[in-house]
Amino acid sequence: MKVLTEYNLTDLQEELTSSGFEHYRARQILKWVYSKFVFDFDLMTDLPKDMRRTLKETFRVHTLDTVDRVTAPDSVKYLFRTRDGHLIETVLIKERDHLTLCVSTQIGCAVGCTFCATALDGLIRNLRTSEIVDQYLKVAEDIGGRIRNVVFMGMGEPLANYENLRKAVEIMVSPWGINLSKRRVTVSTSGILSQIRRMMEDDVLKDINLAVSINATTQRLRESIMPLTKTNTLKDLMDLLKRYPLRPYRRITLEYVLIKDLNDSEEDALRLARLIGKHKKRFKVNLIPFNPDPNLPYERPPMDRVLRFQKVLWERGISTFVRFSKGVDVFGACGQLRSRRPVVRSLNHEEPAQVGDGAGCNSLSGPPDKGDSRSGL
Ligand code: SF4
Repeated sequence: MKVLTEYNLTDLQEELTSSGFEHYRARQILKWVYSKFVFDFDLMTDLPKDMRRTLKETFRVHTLDTVDRVTAPDSVKYLFRTRDGHLIETVLIKERDHLTLCVSTQIGCAVGCTFCATALDGLIRNLRTSEIVDQYLKVAEDIGGRIRNVVFMGMGEPLANYENLRKAVEIMVSPWGINLSKRRVTVSTSGILSQIRRMMEDDVLKDINLAVSINATTQRLRESIMPLTKTNTLKDLMDLLKRYPLRPYRRITLEYVLIKDLNDSEEDALRLARLIGKHKKRFKVNLIPFNPDPNLPYERPPMDRVLRFQKVLWERGISTFVRFSKGVDVFGACGQLRSRRPVVRSLNHEEPAQVGDGAGCNSLSGPPDKGDSRSGL
């Protein structure tokens, strides 16, 4: 059976005309699926009956089955099973006045960050376009409505699954698709330079928000906790981000997971300020106190240390926010997603004191507002 959510408008038009149907039917079908969240072809009442029957015999919409759903006060964690039996997680975050969905793009991850639970499984495989899109559809169906913000900060490195990510974003932001604002979609990356360069030229991806996990201020430390960065160096990354084309009022989010006695000193904060240099308006920093995991050898820094780090950056004119994970009680926090057990990572919210909006590593965030973007990992 074919999977409808693998198709963009053009592909579906071609598919339908090759089967003898009018090409304009494609828009009607996609409107049912992506605007009305109707997935049963029998209910698509503006289509002829014989066409509905053919569609039913030819296509299915969903690629995921819901295995579990864990609700916390500020988040809902969904555990989905793919057709080949793998588990993935998606987190719905309740913000003040809107919802944000944290979507996974891979089963496991090859980047190998030493502070991340997802890395413990290694990479199992990329998610298909339909499996990425279906995370949104299943949750929208569950809550009975649209979700305004999407962040690609769940399991996996989104830019390592570029083509499927791109097509999923196309479906999410196109008028014939879910029709989200590009300002409300964020891709979070560990900083794969070749793929960030690709994004810069990409009609679909270039105007969505970019968030990059920094997590260390020296090349030596960064490559020890994020092995991929041996070949994607901090210097080259910052040079590229300083040239990255941005729309007015948009900023790149630098995500920084604060780990006790590893990267949380005032010297680290000063080095981060120096890395940003005079480009203060181009970046904002999200500080994410590490979420302890029994499988990982790190601790969260005490709050006074977190605030001191933030203060150093604020004093140098750099917008810096502290993000705390929501849903830690259900293992729904940053860096806590794994494919082989029903846990999730993601979702941070800001500290009440003197901090603004921001997002988290492998984690989520608030509403992409003016100049807002999100990071992950
Ligand atoms: S933090 Fe992100 S990039 Fe790093 S291992 Fe985890 S999922 Fe992969």
